[in-house]
Amino acid sequence: MPHVIVVGAGPGGLTSAISLAGLGFDVTLLEAKDRVGGRMGVVTDGTYTFDTGPTILQVPQVLEGIVSRAGRKLSDYVELRKVEPNTRITFWDRTSIETSTDRAKMAEEMAKFGAQQPANFDRWLTAHHEKYRLAWEKFIAYPADSIPDYFNPLRLTSTLPYKPWQTLATHLDEAFGDDRLTYALAYPSKYLGLHPTNCSSVFSVIPYLEFAFGLWHPMGGFRALADGLARCFTDLGGKVRLNAKVERIEIVGGKAKGVVLAGGERLSADAVVVNADFAHAAKNLIPQQHRTRWTDQKIEKLRYSCSTFMLYLGIDRPLDELRHHEIYLSKHVTDTSPLRLEDQDLDREDPPFYLANPSVTDPSFAPKGHSALYVLVPCPNTAHPVDWKGQLNRYTEMVIGRLRLVGAPDLTKHIKFQKVFTAETWRDEFFVHRGAVFNLSHNWTQLGPLRPRSQSEDVENLHWVGGGTHPGSGLLTIFESANIAAGHLAERFGKRAPSTPVERVPPVPPEILRAAAR
Ligand SMILES: Cc1cc2nc3c(=O)[nH]c(=O)nc-3n(C[C@H](O)[C@H](O)[C@H](O)COP(=O)(O)OP(=O)(O)OC[C@H]3O[C@@H](n4cnc5c(N)ncnc54)[C@H](O)[C@@H]3O)c2cc1C
Repeated sequence: MPHVIVVGAGPGGLTSAISLAGLGFDVTLLEAKDRVGGRMGVVTDGTYTFDTGPTILQVPQVLEGIVSRAGRKLSDYVELRKVEPNTRITFWDRTSIETSTDRAKMAEEMAKFGAQQPANFDRWLTAHHEKYRLAWEKFIAYPADSIPDYFNPLRLTSTLPYKPWQTLATHLDEAFGDDRLTYALAYPSKYLGLHPTNCSSVFSVIPYLEFAFGLWHPMGGFRALADGLARCFTDLGGKVRLNAKVERIEIVGGKAKGVVLAGGERLSADAVVVNADFAHAAKNLIPQQHRTRWTDQKIEKLRYSCSTFMLYLGIDRPLDELRHHEIYLSKHVTDTSPLRLEDQDLDREDPPFYLANPSVTDPSFAPKGHSALYVLVPCPNTAHPVDWKGQLNRYTEMVIGRLRLVGAPDLTKHIKFQKVFTAETWRDEFFVHRGAVFNLSHNWTQLGPLRPRSQSEDVENLHWVGGGTHPGSGLLTIFESANIAAGHLAERFGKRAPSTPVERVPPVPPEILRAAAR
């Protein structure tokens, strides 16, 4: 049985390991830290518990598909619950919208922004049923192995009616003509390292996924999802080694032959799949002579996403007035000055932020009658240094004070636990290049075959998965990177391909299609 080593047990490593074990490979998963999950980690003081990274699972069918193709059932490992409403978004003018998969509720919410908006929304959503299918099949699930193949005009003609050259801001403005709705739907572009004014309209598929498939929460938190995936992998016969930091990939005669661990232990393998952050791992684990395309200079020239300032707050009271997911959009989200577009400067005046209050859905975060708040504020990555030491307390106080903007009461007296992460935490403790937590930006020059590919171009039997690789940095695209790598390894070792891109397009829920047809 061919032996595959997977380096890193983040979401990309865990799902690759499951896919490969399901295909019959002998798989060893090596993780530098003392737990699985990567950025999908945990902070706890024993009373309050927080997920460190992802709080939103979109289109759980992708993950279910991976686990079921490996012969297991995801529900045996973790319980997923749909969150309703999806998100409450509060705007700079203090108006707000609650988003939902419930079409009647969305019509009501949209009507608050003008009598024409429910019909505009219906039209927009209906146009996306097909746009979504094409985007998934042609961009998200499609292996980006060659530039001529990926950008073949014949392959892409069916996408042209959707004007992929148009910016996301123009597309949404044409659909709604209201800045608030444009920025509400476009906000995920922040997590792509982009701004709606410099981001392709292709990415309107991300808000569509939210309206069509909803937002999902793993009970026990995303840490329980990581643990569940690791259990599934070991049930399939895989081996997990924690505290096993890989120091370098062994490359002999242009082929990956195994890894060397910190401490000197050598492990041999027929193939190596790297899930550690692409830019960090390329620079640190693979000598320059084996990287003709991704040289150190090239890696430094790439465009990276913002980082995040994180605040994890244990509160000694329930906060039922807050939704599970809250977003505050300040007027600054519409600012297109270079400083803001590229997040080169810390916004000390009016930063947009996201808040999660998972205790309204899941009792595992805080004792009864208490709450565990997670606050995420986009901030510069470490290429644009911030004097965190000098201003951490002031900045933290400012952010806590501004939680009132999403309806949180004055919390100062109720904070019983507090932990902060900055870009430096992500860089130093999670091994993320520049602390750019959403990895490389998703501009056209860093997409598809122009992004790091699943199959190394220089080294045989070396593969990449995770947010820094094709197709991109959210959980569902990371899971697709695992599917793509599994497809390549199956082919390389003469196994049946586990699935095709067309088979992997999750069907739109019938109630969403039905409602649109009315
Ligand atoms: C604050 C935050 C919020 C996010 N929110 C969402 C969200 O709501 N929804 C969503 O879809 N996405 C979200 N994301 C984006 C994305 O889902 C996560 O960043 C995801 O965890 C990245 O997964 P990954 O597998 O690419 O890498 P990682 O999670 O970084 O995993 C890589 C693993 O490799 C290990 N490693 C590194 N170097 C070595 C080495 N030398 N040897 C062995 N192991 C090594 C690391 O310890 C780590 O465990 C969020 C990210 C962050 C940071």
